[in-house]
Amino acid sequence: MRILIAEDDQVLADGLLRTLRASGAAADHVPDGSQADAALATKNEFDLLILDLGLPRMHGLEVLRRLRGRGSAMPVLILTAADSVEERVKGLDLGADDYMAKPFSLHELEARVRALTRRGLGGASATIKHGPLTYDQSGRVAMVDGKMVELSARELGLLEVLLQRAGRLVSKDQLVEHLCEWGEEVSNNAIEVYVHRLRKKIEKGPIRIATVRGLGYCLEKIPA
Ligand code: CA
Repeated sequence: MRILIAEDDQVLADGLLRTLRASGAAADHVPDGSQADAALATKNEFDLLILDLGLPRMHGLEVLRRLRGRGSAMPVLILTAADSVEERVKGLDLGADDYMAKPFSLHELEARVRALTRRGLGGASATIKHGPLTYDQSGRVAMVDGKMVELSARELGLLEVLLQRAGRLVSKDQLVEHLCEWGEEVSNNAIEVYVHRLRKKIEKGPIRIATVRGLGYCLEKIPA
């Protein structure tokens, strides 16, 4: 899971980055609205945007308006000053999914982020089932045939991306986009290694990650 944080308060941004990375997400930070807009307008594959509204260079509401104007359904959590009820309402009207008023606890933020990204993963349910595999999105625990599978942070991230798009082709570039932060160098070869390891751990019975040569991977659909 990859998250973009648009926040001009560096101390708060650092706290958010630490918290989200500790929970296993890849997180990137921009300090103003126009950089946020530019990052969102390119093909970066973010799974969630945490958007401060009081941003320099472009107001958060404008960033949000442009994002929705491009047809993006990316979950957005807005951060507002405690007293700005009006901005909060405008944000929700413009298509924000949730908000937090400053100051807030990072614990609560983590819980909201989990809920929003679950929605992004195609359902409010905390558990995804895929044949004999179950994946608990809150605890980030994968089980096959009722037995827990030990997965590294990268393997978990990979499994999440594939489960979210079960039955669909996911290119190596898309995987890199979802798993890596800016400035992180992850080659296509490294992706092949992660897929290989994940396969060894989860491919049981009908669970299969197919290689589509030259294109990418597909977690094959399991007929009900
Ligand atoms: Ca601000």
